[in-house]
Amino acid sequence: MSEQELRRKIVSIGKKAFDYKLLSGTWGNISARFGKDKMLITPSGFEKVALKPSDIVLMDLQGNILRGKWKPSSEVPVHSLIYKAREDVNAVIHTHSHYAIALAVTGQEIPVLTSEFAAAVGHKVPVTRYAMSGTQEFAKEVVRTLGEGKAVLLRNHGVIAVGDSLEDAFQTALLVEDEARTFILASSLGYAKPLDVNEVKRLRDAYLKSYGQEKRRLSLRF
Ligand code: 13P
Ligand code: ZN
Repeated sequence: MSEQELRRKIVSIGKKAFDYKLLSGTWGNISARFGKDKMLITPSGFEKVALKPSDIVLMDLQGNILRGKWKPSSEVPVHSLIYKAREDVNAVIHTHSHYAIALAVTGQEIPVLTSEFAAAVGHKVPVTRYAMSGTQEFAKEVVRTLGEGKAVLLRNHGVIAVGDSLEDAFQTALLVEDEARTFILASSLGYAKPLDVNEVKRLRDAYLKSYGQEKRRLSLRF
């Protein structure tokens, strides 16, 4: 994918994430890997719903700006450390969605409750220890807690979702919020029973094998 196409896609995801109420005000940020060791990332302090492709900043993973007129996101350290630690990750989305934040402030991980979450994400979502966002310490804590997973809750802060594409990371961020809401609503009605781990694996395997179209599992419109 060309740099211009990727810039356009980040802008579309910003609008979509805003429409789904995953972002609040200027909070949240989005990046995509470009080539092996570069990334395109949203600028700091912008409402992501109002971005233009030319606002996105091209950087290397050492924190140097290669192209762009704005200061990049304050979360550059965590985005770049994830790309360095995980070769399979091509997109990172940091959201500030409400139900997930309610769990992040109470330090409760999200269990796998629904078949769609088992299929598309396939693991419970752990919570990081608290660290000040934007720091190297925060970046290391996120990478440690994320492990090989697709999402983490950031203690007292928000969510980070990763994926092999922007569509994949976006879908995970959306499903994390849905699963957090389900968890909170179901818990208020009684016990929210997690799915059995073997069933989670079965659903995940079936999804990876045959969900969606052959060449393109996710068909979101951007
Ligand atoms: P930026 O606007 O600098 O990307 O920061 C938003 C945010 O959510 C920080 O955690
Ligand atoms: Zn944030």
